[in-house]
Amino acid sequence: MNPQQHAQLRHQFPALAQQVNGHPLIYLDNAATTQKPHAVLDAIAHYYRADNANVHRAAHALSGRATRAFEAARETVARFINAPRSHEVIWTRGTTEAINLVAQSWGMSELKTGDEIILSTLEHHANIVPWQLVAQRTGALIRVIPLDTRGDLDLAAYHAMLGPRTRLVSVAHVSNALGTVNPVKEIVAAAKAVGAVTLIDGAQAVAHLEVDVQAIGCDFYACSGHKLYGPTGIGVLWGRSELLERMPPWQAGGEMIDRVSFSGTTFNTLPFKFEAGTPHIAGAIGLAAAIDFVMAQDREWLAQHEQALTDYLVAGLQQVPGLRLVGEPGQRAGAVSFLLDDIHPQDGATLLDMQGIALRVGHHCAMPLMESLGIGGTLRASLACYNNRDDVDALLAALHTLSDFF
Ligand code: PMP
Repeated sequence: MNPQQHAQLRHQFPALAQQVNGHPLIYLDNAATTQKPHAVLDAIAHYYRADNANVHRAAHALSGRATRAFEAARETVARFINAPRSHEVIWTRGTTEAINLVAQSWGMSELKTGDEIILSTLEHHANIVPWQLVAQRTGALIRVIPLDTRGDLDLAAYHAMLGPRTRLVSVAHVSNALGTVNPVKEIVAAAKAVGAVTLIDGAQAVAHLEVDVQAIGCDFYACSGHKLYGPTGIGVLWGRSELLERMPPWQAGGEMIDRVSFSGTTFNTLPFKFEAGTPHIAGAIGLAAAIDFVMAQDREWLAQHEQALTDYLVAGLQQVPGLRLVGEPGQRAGAVSFLLDDIHPQDGATLLDMQGIALRVGHHCAMPLMESLGIGGTLRASLACYNNRDDVDALLAALHTLSDFF
């Protein structure tokens, strides 16, 4: 890919070509959600225009087409994360629901008083609160890996925490607040050495890193379609079939059953055992279109481009008078958090929005992380494949103006 081809890639995202408050939109809130390319919008529209039907049941042509597209989407996800078997890919509403599925099904059936769940300080609430609910009900204890001063996990502390009581280690692949890339292979290998089950929250990783669940070695991997240029309301839980087979169903209803009678019900095989009710068919098809879009790109070029742009952003931010970076992790993907002296983050974000610049402000659903950093929240700029130096330059220029003004 060259810069002209990159400009063409950007043109694939119609939402980027608009004015906001009289300025061209500079979209730097990709860790919250990404914009969607034509390929995704077209795939969803085509499904509703031509193939709309419920899946798996009816014996008519439209249902056959919908079912084939829906199941092909599952295969696409499996290839994308290198899952060994596509029936290990379970559709969920997103990362949050994927983690809740594991917490409610595996956690509630496996955890007992005194068992330990290891999380980290930089987790999103979606990878904290489901475990708190389970811990309250089972008597399991939550232990938290601390951070070092840069915003990397303190791995020595993690290794010291592991022991015979450790039943689960659940950590983010990439932090949504600081952009920290965690050494998930090492984290998983150490957890496995004590016989613990592992879950990786990949919500922020899938758009930036090439994810290979077999190479990571984890038991579960959770992610959301909308952070990967796909639709909202669809996500994935990948799990090892040995574990998924043993886990009890979570939500119940149609699709997930084999036979139902009032004297007892038997359950469907994987993946359907965990997919009660009519699924988000258009969402799955849209997500597969997003993955096809990503896989058709020169991913190595894009990874280098994103890394170089992140470095350029960080270096530029360091030049803004009165700006403080929050977290300087060894390896970073996507997100950069910062604070401006004398300007409340919310006011900063509003002033930037007036210039068409979209970024995020607040605790980023990571209140324990903010607490550990001794701050209430940050401003966060987060990049995606379509961002370029013009976007970063526009942000930096606006920040310099703000800093001169205040
Ligand atoms: N984990 C992380 C690291 C996230 O960034 C997010 C979304 N901000 C989630 C989990 C939850 O994802 P969703 O809201 O799509 O379920």
